[in-house]
Amino acid sequence: MTAEAFLDVQEVTKRFGGFQALGAVSLRIRQGERFGLIGPNGSGKTTLINCISGTLRTDGGRIVFEDQDITTLPAYRRARLGIARSFQIPKPFTSMTLLDNLLIPIEYARQAHHDGVVDEAMGILGQVGLGAKAHVLSAALTQIEMRKLELARAMAARPKLLVSDEAMAGLSSAEVDDILAILFDLNTHGITIIMIEHIMRAVMRFSERIAVLDAGEKIAEGGPEEILANERVERAYLGE
Ligand code: ADP
Ligand code: MG
Repeated sequence: MTAEAFLDVQEVTKRFGGFQALGAVSLRIRQGERFGLIGPNGSGKTTLINCISGTLRTDGGRIVFEDQDITTLPAYRRARLGIARSFQIPKPFTSMTLLDNLLIPIEYARQAHHDGVVDEAMGILGQVGLGAKAHVLSAALTQIEMRKLELARAMAARPKLLVSDEAMAGLSSAEVDDILAILFDLNTHGITIIMIEHIMRAVMRFSERIAVLDAGEKIAEGGPEEILANERVERAYLGE
């Protein structure tokens, strides 16, 4: 790959006090790619995503998105450039309907109320299979519906890059397939997707390429077959 990486993470480091959470991690992601990010608990996956989305500042390295250096941009500016992420722990406004939960980020992203905003929210809810629940309070949602709403909220900013942080944890196998289908569909519509996931079957099926973190270092990168056959990756998971 040459200079035109869509997202170019260059030797990013992050410390929490004396603890090194990320040590010079580099990633290059192509536009339209389905990229998997895996690694044992505590290996730095969420921290890396926080650095990419701007929730956290890096201590070193650079992050370039579509040829723009975003390393020091605040999160809301990165969101406006097209970077969205779902949170590992969904936090919707439980006393609001699903529709209202989506109207807030849509209006925020557009910086204005416009007449099409309800249609747009309904469209996104439809995309994640929650169209019929638009007027239900989000407190009444099941776990999988909550995950879908979390993805819908990330979609509100019309992102070019969507990072899904463990959207499948704790779901049944059929529900995992349901979320997978949504992510495949979003990717078909041109959205680049980074999937962080503990459910191997899902990451392997979804990802064109996978990077593996262990203790804040990238220990492997390659296609699903390559990763499955990698002894260093196997050791990292066995040690968990
Ligand atoms: P993963 O998402 O791969 O499970 P995280 O990125 O959440 O891992 O965490 C990586 C390491 O950094 C863990 O040891 C975690 O305890 C630590 N960590 C994450 N966030 C913070 C924080 N805000 N303050 C201190 N330590 C943190
Ligand atoms: Mg995490």
